[in-house]
Amino acid sequence: MEEIKVDGLQIPDPLYSLAEKLSSEWGTYLRKIKENWAIAEVDNWESALPPCVKAIMDGVKAGKNVPHSARFMLASFLLSIGLSVEEVLEIFRAAPDFKEQIARYQVEHIAGLRGSRKKYSPYKCDNMKTLALCVAECNVKHPLQYYWKSLRHRTATKRDKV
Ligand code: SF4
Repeated sequence: MEEIKVDGLQIPDPLYSLAEKLSSEWGTYLRKIKENWAIAEVDNWESALPPCVKAIMDGVKAGKNVPHSARFMLASFLLSIGLSVEEVLEIFRAAPDFKEQIARYQVEHIAGLRGSRKKYSPYKCDNMKTLALCVAECNVKHPLQYYWKSLRHRTATKRDKV
């Protein structure tokens, strides 16, 4: 990397190849993660949720009127860990103001299936703190990090017991 001189807006070939290689390796890695950690393959995935997401989900399931930012967080988080639009809608069905058509439009929008086709990412812990949605100190920077760590830990513990 030190030998590569970046000149203006031109991307040098070695840097371009390096980025391509990294991107392809990352793609393979992501595919592997998705195969191994698909929701259908994970027992009791809800127990691996970070406390903030669990609190929002419990609130929605209990029929509480949770704020828009919390709903966005819940939907984007669940879609990111592999739930389908239908599965996410099933969770929101308990909300007191649930309207199938509007909820479907919003969840599909967050999933990147409508409008700008941009898939939205869940908030980072810093954003969650600003929005007063953070409910614990978990020593992570992102709620997704908590989830994946928690699943990894569970798998390692299971393996150790075998
Ligand atoms: S530290 Fe992060 S993961 Fe933990 S509750 Fe707060 S926002 Fe959620």
